[in-house]
Amino acid sequence: MEAILQIDNLTVSFDGFKAVNSVNTEIAKGEIRFFIGPNGAGKTTLLDAICGRVKPADGQVLFKGNLDVTRYAEHEIVNIGIGRKFQVPSVFTSLTVDENMELTVVKDRSLYSSLFCSVSKAQQECNADILNTIGLYEKRHSEAAALSHGEKQWLEIGMLLAQQPKLMLLDEPVAGMGRRETEKTGELLKKICNDCTVVVVEHDMQFVRDFATKVTVLHEGAVLDEGSVYDVQNNPKVIEVYLGR
Ligand code: ADP
Repeated sequence: MEAILQIDNLTVSFDGFKAVNSVNTEIAKGEIRFFIGPNGAGKTTLLDAICGRVKPADGQVLFKGNLDVTRYAEHEIVNIGIGRKFQVPSVFTSLTVDENMELTVVKDRSLYSSLFCSVSKAQQECNADILNTIGLYEKRHSEAAALSHGEKQWLEIGMLLAQQPKLMLLDEPVAGMGRRETEKTGELLKKICNDCTVVVVEHDMQFVRDFATKVTVLHEGAVLDEGSVYDVQNNPKVIEVYLGR
């Protein structure tokens, strides 16, 4: 399977403390890869390194075979096709769903044109497709404030999709959701992962079990185990440090 992301010997230090310690992993195109591990394991810092928010002390992150993302600034990484979503949805609640989609700064539009110029027909059609995919087409004229917590999360995923990423990084996307919204989120990730590989940091083990193609367990900044949900769940070391049994 062709790799979309290759992480080699990645180390991120804060004042000498290695929050991410010599991590190696390869993420294949089309995966829904979950990173799990106890609090402080380095999961968020790893995502931060992939999207350029923190610079590593050592190692490299190769995107699409030859782009070393550690050499790019955060805003450039969006342009090369990596989208990042944080835990709290950051949609504009006083705007409609459609308007939120239109505000997305797509690759060939400046912030100025996003704010002050009308959206092209092609972009409108693309946004309509995305709204169908995320299940919000019927609500496109509703204010984002009226959306449920889950719907706001899906809208933000839609706004990321409008930038046509090839890799999407999601930090606890189902936190605060009930079971039904959680399942719908997983189904959404399954729909998009063929075009846009998905990397998820997650605590909700039911969600991980239901939707992971592969799981990486981090502990104290390092990879403790990697494999299928079944394999990592049955690894005694994982049970000891993570599941506490
Ligand atoms: P996780 O997401 O797995 O809970 P984090 O990546 O947030 O873990 O944090 C890993 C470790 O790095 C923790 O011990 C945390 O306190 C530390 N850390 C994270 N960010 C910083 C920072 N900006 N400065 C100093 N230490 C940090």
